[in-house]
Amino acid sequence: MLLFLGSLLLWCALAAALGWWWGGTVSALAMALAASGLWALRHMWHAHRLEQWFRSGPIGEPPRLAGVWREVSDRIRRLLRLKEREVLLHTERLRHFLDAIEASPNGVTLLDQDGRIEWCNAIAGQHLGIDAVRDRAQHVVHLVRDPVFTRYFQQESHANEVVIEGRSNSLAKSIKLSVQLFPYGQGQQLLLTRDITAVAQAEAMRRDFVANVSHEIRTPLTVLAGFVETLQSLPLSAQEQQQYLGLMATQAQRMQSLVSDLLTLSQLEGSPPPSAAEQVDLPELMAQIEADARALSALQGESGAPVHVLVFEPAPGAALLGARSELLSAFSNLVSNAVRYTPPGGRITVGWQKQEQALVFAVRDTGPGIAAEHVPRLSERFYRVDRSRSRETGGTGLGLAITKHVVQRHGGELRIESQVGVGSCFMLVLPIQRLITAP
Ligand code: ADP
Repeated sequence: MLLFLGSLLLWCALAAALGWWWGGTVSALAMALAASGLWALRHMWHAHRLEQWFRSGPIGEPPRLAGVWREVSDRIRRLLRLKEREVLLHTERLRHFLDAIEASPNGVTLLDQDGRIEWCNAIAGQHLGIDAVRDRAQHVVHLVRDPVFTRYFQQESHANEVVIEGRSNSLAKSIKLSVQLFPYGQGQQLLLTRDITAVAQAEAMRRDFVANVSHEIRTPLTVLAGFVETLQSLPLSAQEQQQYLGLMATQAQRMQSLVSDLLTLSQLEGSPPPSAAEQVDLPELMAQIEADARALSALQGESGAPVHVLVFEPAPGAALLGARSELLSAFSNLVSNAVRYTPPGGRITVGWQKQEQALVFAVRDTGPGIAAEHVPRLSERFYRVDRSRSRETGGTGLGLAITKHVVQRHGGELRIESQVGVGSCFMLVLPIQRLITAP
């Protein structure tokens, strides 16, 4: 301000002195007046150029101004540059935060004080079926139309999470979401969503498994308890006692098989994949499986000889890379199933096929066959086509589940082909690299 007044006084004094020298007092006054007018015009012109610079959009080079205006424009420009850098820095930081939230496997939605959507990441969009741009400022309850969520949103406290149905593109796939609200800032809320479909499925499977195991154990246990009570309370002849003890032994044997299969399954699930260094003598393994199959088949008749036509083709190699106990249980499960389910007189062929990439172990039978709708479910735990037939023959309902697990651990797969009334073929397809041919 002082600078402005000083420059005005200087202009007026110089003009008045010039006017005095040229024409006396009147001229001095006129010159001083003209000088102050010129001074004002000059400053108005500079102010106008400065204003135009402000309005010109992004901060570029300031106009060429003189004197105090130049200083003002330089200062403003420096200040604006500083602010611009700060804004850029903050924008960059915000972008980083948003990128980090985008990378989260959980859905994050920011709600304002009224519960309206301010922002959401892509995962939240998928979970809740919302669009961050289209649905901005929409009330979350209007978009997440689930009565459980509406009730939860209206609650005072959101200390616990709730489970709601997620939005899915396919009708067949139901998605379970865990949802929780967290307050932040001044009345805003953070809506966190987590896809718990797999967890819920695992929990349902665990429940089913426990229920199945309990049921499978309870049945023979009830029968056993009944016989014990009969033996305790009734005066039975020695022959009757023997008969009951025999039936009790069968039930005990059933429970033993079940517990042993359950242990095998839990060992398979809890142990690391089999070592690639272990070699299994294939002819020796197959000889054991053949002997067991012949003994099992003989048990179905009276004569002590096998009641089926059993054909075992020679194994194509000397050894197989894998865990002996696991491979024995996988191969013999398929062979014993064929023997158990094929009626006497039927034919069972155990063969091998060497393909370019795979070694196929196949067990073919002329048994009852399996209807197509059952085939994909056969390797589920406790799944049986004919429950009573399975029990009669000492089945636990876990054999194919174990077999599938073993073959997968060895890098292969279980394939099943079957035709009702014709027979079945169960195949274990293993990577050819596992086969060691004789030198
Ligand atoms: P299980 O102990 O009941 O035999 P598995 O898991 O070994 O249990 O087999 C599951 C079901 O698959 C069996 O209950 C049976 O219904 C069917 N199955 C398995 N192998 C055969 C086969 N060779 N022929 C006909 N059905 C079979």
